[in-house]
Amino acid sequence: MTAIDTGLQDLKRQHPEWEPWLAVVQEVLSEATNSEWDACVPVRNETQQSKVPLLAGTTLALPQRSVHRLLEKLIRIAHRSGTPEMATLEPVLHADLDFLNLFKASLCQDSDRIKKIAADLGADSEAFQAVAALLPVPLLNACNRRWASSKSVSWVEGYCPVCGAWPAFTEVRGIERSRYFRCGRCGGEWQAQCLFCPYCGMTDHNELVSLVPEKSGAAGVIDACKRCLGYAKTFTTLQGSQPAKVLLDDLASAHLDVAALEQGYKRPQGAGYSLDVTVTDNGKAWRRFF
Ligand SMILES: [Zn+2]
Ligand SMILES: [Zn+2]
Repeated sequence: MTAIDTGLQDLKRQHPEWEPWLAVVQEVLSEATNSEWDACVPVRNETQQSKVPLLAGTTLALPQRSVHRLLEKLIRIAHRSGTPEMATLEPVLHADLDFLNLFKASLCQDSDRIKKIAADLGADSEAFQAVAALLPVPLLNACNRRWASSKSVSWVEGYCPVCGAWPAFTEVRGIERSRYFRCGRCGGEWQAQCLFCPYCGMTDHNELVSLVPEKSGAAGVIDACKRCLGYAKTFTTLQGSQPAKVLLDDLASAHLDVAALEQGYKRPQGAGYSLDVTVTDNGKAWRRFF
């Protein structure tokens, strides 16, 4: 059994009520480890520019029909969950949707555009956003794999060097206690400074607090910033999580998000870096999506 299977089973056991949503996540994670996506990632020869994520400015040629089928599959699984919100996604299956536009909006974390598409389709905004956010995850995991050697080793920004997202959490690893931010979209990692707010760059220790939830007993603290009121969950671990498991680790620590929210802190919405990406159809289709 893989670490992802074990993680999914643990979550289903701990939160039986999440099972319908975890079925959607499971589908995306099995795609995220599929190397077929790697062929869609543009080749990069140049070194990474300072402050610019590798995905910025790229042109992606995707098998549009197959990725469209993936969206339909996710919506069908979500729809089966039977919640009233997910039931509102049904019209998406029959809509004449500008699919590449939706994929691009999700890739760029353009939540205004995604909300507008949801409104036009009459779908529940949050349910639609949740499914749309998962759609580019397999491609982004492939970007992280293919561009591993292109990533700048001196990256010091708060957002992901591959896809520009804010971190899902921080890992403090091994006896050296080296710190890494992890991305919940591409699964990437980048070194994090100690006492540093990834959102506003604050480094004054008087403005940064560490909150330990009372009843948790579980691993993890909340590192929060008094200036921008952003927070990052931080876990001490021997090794970093495998890329596709970052999303699960993020879900598994939802109790820390609740605790942070109760203290008045939040994770910023949208992207850490505004990507400018062109998405086109490569005219191909993958057999498994017929
Ligand atoms: Zn990323
Ligand atoms: Zn801050």
